[in-house]
Amino acid sequence: MRPDILNPYFASIESLPGIGPKLARPFNRLLGRPEGARVLDLLLHLPSSTIDRRARPTIAEALPDTVVTLKLHVDRHVPTPRGARTPHRVFAHDESGDITLAWFSADGGWIERLMPVGETRYVSGTLTLYDGAAQMVHPDRVVDEAGLAKLPPIEPIYPLVEGLGQGHVRRAIEAALARAPELPEWRADGGPADTARPGFRSALERIHHPRDPVDASPAGLAWRRLAYDELLASQLTLALVRARTVHLAGRPSVGDGQLSRRIEDTLPFSLTSSQVEALKAIRADLASPHRMLRLLQGDVGSGKTVVALLASATVIEAGRQAALMAPTEILARQHMKTIEKVAATAGLRLALLTGREKGRARDAVLSALKAGEIDLIIGTHALFQEGVEFHDLALALVDEQHRFGVHQRLALAAKGEAVDVLVMTATPIPRTLVLTYFGDMDSSELREKPAGRKPIDTRTIPSDRLDEVVQRLAHALAEGRRAYWICPLVEESESSDLAAAEARFEELRHWFGDKVGLIHGKMKGAQKDAAMAAFAAGETQLLVATTVVEVGMDVPEATIIVIEHAERFGLAQLHQLRGRVGRGSEASICLLVYRRPLGEIARERLQALRSSEDGFFLAEQDLKLRGEGDVLGTRQSGFPGFRLARLDVHGALLERARAEALDIVQNDSDLMGEHGAALRILLHVFERDIAVKLLSAG
Ligand code: ADP
Ligand code: MG
Repeated sequence: MRPDILNPYFASIESLPGIGPKLARPFNRLLGRPEGARVLDLLLHLPSSTIDRRARPTIAEALPDTVVTLKLHVDRHVPTPRGARTPHRVFAHDESGDITLAWFSADGGWIERLMPVGETRYVSGTLTLYDGAAQMVHPDRVVDEAGLAKLPPIEPIYPLVEGLGQGHVRRAIEAALARAPELPEWRADGGPADTARPGFRSALERIHHPRDPVDASPAGLAWRRLAYDELLASQLTLALVRARTVHLAGRPSVGDGQLSRRIEDTLPFSLTSSQVEALKAIRADLASPHRMLRLLQGDVGSGKTVVALLASATVIEAGRQAALMAPTEILARQHMKTIEKVAATAGLRLALLTGREKGRARDAVLSALKAGEIDLIIGTHALFQEGVEFHDLALALVDEQHRFGVHQRLALAAKGEAVDVLVMTATPIPRTLVLTYFGDMDSSELREKPAGRKPIDTRTIPSDRLDEVVQRLAHALAEGRRAYWICPLVEESESSDLAAAEARFEELRHWFGDKVGLIHGKMKGAQKDAAMAAFAAGETQLLVATTVVEVGMDVPEATIIVIEHAERFGLAQLHQLRGRVGRGSEASICLLVYRRPLGEIARERLQALRSSEDGFFLAEQDLKLRGEGDVLGTRQSGFPGFRLARLDVHGALLERARAEALDIVQNDSDLMGEHGAALRILLHVFERDIAVKLLSAG
């Protein structure tokens, strides 16, 4: 399936000289491939910076605190006395002056062999001044004349993990480069000139063997070429998916409007005009003979679920089925709960399917689904697993899409014939990112909040005034109000998040007793349900939570949210969290508790949050402040789903990649011919196998 020319790229790193099973382990960690890294992963592990060893001054000329390479005559050694903490020192000189080299806790014998007295050595490292005297602590390199010839003038510095040094990574990449053949050029002649040369492999070589620091930087030509390749691969995938979904005819679903009307009558509110607008567009899509691929963007609390339900009603009226897929168990259950209320009166047959439904209950759901006795099924990714068969699936509703990939979307759509797809996202996404992640999808936006919502009073407060927060809470709880308390997010480990939440829970319980509940990601499903239910019912009034409440939780009675360590969250995430309150008709408060000192970016983030509740505006701000990772709510700082491309540096290439991808698909939607074959190689290199599979499915 994969072209043979790529075999060396996809060989295990253990096939490289010098990498055995033991060294492979840290490499797998470094490259994020616990199941076994490949040569390609090594090659795409690009430098984080470079060291420029071209400066060859004399000792007197050298600028302090810069990396220099000096030609030195070795005068004498002063080894570390037994038991002492002083460094092993080497005194040396050139024609301009003297210098002291120092090594702490090093093997003196090794240093004496490295720098024999009376000989000349080239020593590279950072020169410092100590009391006016030149010194160099732990030189990076000590070489003789022959070694100097081999010393790279510009040396790439790679990100590392424990157990690996720069030398390991460099040698492994050397070996990988030696194995990797140049690939056929997939870039058409018309590819952007500022990215087009050199070829794929030459670009890798240029980055790993930079001749100038810019060669190894994201702004350099070589990196730009690779970034463009990666963007092209992703845009081509989207274009191919799109071409196939649009060109395959849809099956029109036209309802008689009866079920929809019954549902609307049951709702205790009337639809906002954005909701009406969105539904109109969706129903037109459903009725058309083309397949729907639409994004429904709506800020938290803008009422997407109702839109989803009414869209489902249309296909159900047409005698067909709908599936609503949520990213988490909690959310799936919550959708179920919301929709259940309406469904019973409206005569809608509902079922739930998550990883927790097992045995006979699950079998019953599956057979009813297949028999067409279920109109709308709500679930998690369990919905697109094998064994789940529909009678006639017409509409797939995917909530919080960015947590799923294109792959899952297609997998769910594949459960039926000509399935229409509506993707819902609660994180408003700037237009550029819509293109990146969703391609040319149609989009509906719910910009308007349901009527009667009061603005949320958002305040910042330093953590040393936490007792004031507790005081305020005491008043509020006494008045019967309900509050979330979101606990610190600690990047490194889930277990420390948990410890912090549990400690806070205990402390708050000390103040408020049984009114306090706790919910976190490590709890069993039933425990989570119980904690949520108790809070929703008002049995607990203060719910201490890790970020499990981030997505979609809906308890309209909750009017206070305290977010501890707010400075550690991204803007989009804070906005999501804040969106847990302000859902009812009562005025709500959001308290952002931060620890001093507050960094520049964190300050701006909190300021933006105080100034606005418009998710679309905040998403743009977020993009400006922190880069694209956070806009999508991921913790990575990179460009999620991309290995090399960075939106801040390469964002401008995106449009061009998109245009080229559309052009390619228009001219050769099956990627035949020589250029097509090269493009298939590109898709494999960036592992867009989903597109390759589509091609082979024909
Ligand atoms: P989202 O999923 O977009 O965050 P939900 O669909 O969960 O928002 O809706 C949030 C809350 O607003 C729910 O309690 C829902 O019943 C309510 N709601 C939805 N539409 C309206 C409306 N038009 N008027 C008033 N309340 C609404
Ligand atoms: Mg929702």
